[in-house]
Amino acid sequence: MASSSPAAASSAVSSALPTVAIVGRPNVGKSTLMNRMLGRREAIVAEQPGITRDRKEMPARWQGREFTVVDTGGWLPQGAGDNASMDAKVSAQSERSMDDADVVVMVVDSQAGITGDDEGVAGQLRGREGPVFVAVNKVDDVAHENLVWEFIRLGLGDPFPVSALHGRGVGDLLDAVMAALPEEPAEADVERKSDAGMVSVSIVGRPNAGKSTLFNRLIGDDRSVVHDQPGTTRDAIDTVVNTELGPIRFVDTAGMRRRARIDQAAEYYSLLRALDAVDRSDIALLVIDATVGITHQDQRLAERVDGAGCPIVVLLNKWDLLDTEAREAIVLDIDRRLHFLGEAAVLRVSALSGKGVNRLLPELRGVIAEYQRRIPTQAVNRVLRDAQAAHPAPDGARVLYATQGAADPPTFTLFANRTLPRTYLRYLERRLREAFDLGSVPVKLRVRRRSGE
Ligand code: GDP
Ligand code: GDP
Repeated sequence: MASSSPAAASSAVSSALPTVAIVGRPNVGKSTLMNRMLGRREAIVAEQPGITRDRKEMPARWQGREFTVVDTGGWLPQGAGDNASMDAKVSAQSERSMDDADVVVMVVDSQAGITGDDEGVAGQLRGREGPVFVAVNKVDDVAHENLVWEFIRLGLGDPFPVSALHGRGVGDLLDAVMAALPEEPAEADVERKSDAGMVSVSIVGRPNAGKSTLFNRLIGDDRSVVHDQPGTTRDAIDTVVNTELGPIRFVDTAGMRRRARIDQAAEYYSLLRALDAVDRSDIALLVIDATVGITHQDQRLAERVDGAGCPIVVLLNKWDLLDTEAREAIVLDIDRRLHFLGEAAVLRVSALSGKGVNRLLPELRGVIAEYQRRIPTQAVNRVLRDAQAAHPAPDGARVLYATQGAADPPTFTLFANRTLPRTYLRYLERRLREAFDLGSVPVKLRVRRRSGE
């Protein structure tokens, strides 16, 4: 199986979008990772090997940013062993598409360790000017994570543990890749946010948490629905609703409108959809079924929302069904399992009866006001990238990606590969302060290790 054609990658990448090339020897999981990066249903369905073989370039998006993924496919001819002169084997086309790419992701197989071919590929990449990331694939669970460090020997920086098959770690990898892409044509981030001043809100949560019930309660009657708009994903529909805060776009509501229910999506699809919706929204409402408690998927969603720099409002739904004991238990659970959300609002509601739902819009008003005073994520990353280029942190420490988590006081969350010295943080703080005219306002920096909690 696997990428066997030596003549793989298509020639010049013509689109104006930044490009990310996936390289590596056959069978390490390049296509699986590519599918995962595309993150769309069509790609997921095509998970059987072979089906995506002939696709070399695919449009993708992450953090609201569009880019092209290029599968360089055949680094090696079929049957090539772990040896010999790599140079001779690398096809001119593969090489060109690598050269053209803005960022290269080299995929290796954690379970196989470093092979001669991996070393060959890494050798080629070390000479490259642009950023290169090593994705150590098939790290399907925590137990495999220690296999990762061996790959530091490739000399391409800290490896990223991922499981292309299960999606594990792919978000972190993409965050870093996005931060390394060249500057985006200025307005994209602004556009995502405003769309003529309209705020986008996604309602996410596990199947059955009560998202549709909540949404229908929010729109009250159909007269408040202004219009439907196709979203970016093929069957996504956004609904623009008139509220007392003005029109709000609710993202990907295809499955939520009365009489318009689509089939209950599998938990897995629904997660993918939710992630896409989060990327397209300014604020996320995380609906949790309080009778079930805070599940692993709720945590993952919350982490993703948080990582995307998207403010979150947590709704503990079905509050009506809980007795006093259960109510106390879930409040504790929030602190324990969603502690990284910091001061996010938590509302106890019953979408079914409407109880507590009236507190949502006032809450949103505050979040929106705060959000509109924030500096676009791309701009924050640009400043940090320049600051780090001018004056790198010691010992290879690096901020991979950052977002402004709150406006008052300005609070930036930095995702770093390791601990950053205090003096260095002060330097970054100074640069942010200068770049954004923050004057003497206290600026808070939160540093999170990329590998997460
Ligand atoms: P490519 O030749 O590099 O494009 O590799 P493929 O994407 O075709 O994957 C090669 C094999 O590895 C397939 O059988 C995949 O199902 C498997 N694979 C890919 N990613 C993972 C992963 O994260 N974990 C595990 N356990 N297997 C994976
Ligand atoms: P979705 O899959 O997240 O869109 O969930 P639905 O909105 O379809 O709700 C799933 C089930 O939970 C339905 O039977 C709803 O009537 C029920 N439900 C939703 N919200 C509440 C609530 O606040 N209280 C109670 N008791 N049931 C609710």
